[in-house]
Amino acid sequence: MKYAIDVPPVTTVPVTNGESFPVRRIYCVGRNYAAHAREMGHDPNREPPFFFMKPTDAIVLNNSTIEYPTQTNDLHHEIELVVALKSGGRDVAVDRALDLVYGYAVGLDMTRRDMQSVAKKMQRPWDMSKGYDQSAPCAPISPVSEWGHPDKGAIWLKVNGELRQQGDLSDLIWSVAETIAYLSGLVELAPGDLIFSGTPEGVGPVKRGETMVGHVDGLTDLTIKVE
Ligand code: MN
Repeated sequence: MKYAIDVPPVTTVPVTNGESFPVRRIYCVGRNYAAHAREMGHDPNREPPFFFMKPTDAIVLNNSTIEYPTQTNDLHHEIELVVALKSGGRDVAVDRALDLVYGYAVGLDMTRRDMQSVAKKMQRPWDMSKGYDQSAPCAPISPVSEWGHPDKGAIWLKVNGELRQQGDLSDLIWSVAETIAYLSGLVELAPGDLIFSGTPEGVGPVKRGETMVGHVDGLTDLTIKVE
């Protein structure tokens, strides 16, 4: 086959064993911790999970500097557990869902919050507030073979050393297995898919010159500077 233009690069995320994980799609769960749902003005008990997407090449690797994006004055951090899939399927049962998981990583769902607020008000899509360039920093993936499947453990984010977000994986409204099962009823999942599983309370602004450090117990910390 002769391609008409150069083939765009495959986006990959490092694995802690030295291999590279090729990324197919990036799904994100909205409002998956009760306290965060409340801080955004929603009742966490009433809503089934909902999803949005980021483009694959929005991935930014660990220890990178990201540009403060255009068209916002309120760039927010959302620290999240990222689930990496090694296999896919449709209508996956909850008790089989974890079989699809290759591993886990620490990620940031970076958000143009002011633009998202306008989009919500005007009933417009979130793509440009959530899925802009460099909006998906992701630390190296720890394979399940090394880390297992966590159902508890601290998740936190510091900005310039100051604790901003803090939660526990046990506070997830929809567990990783339930999230995979539900999502697989909407779309066919496939190897290479990443799922950003939602953020705990404490989302807030990050400014130029500041450095974010994200943590989930047992995983590689994610360090990202904003310029
Ligand atoms: Mn999020």
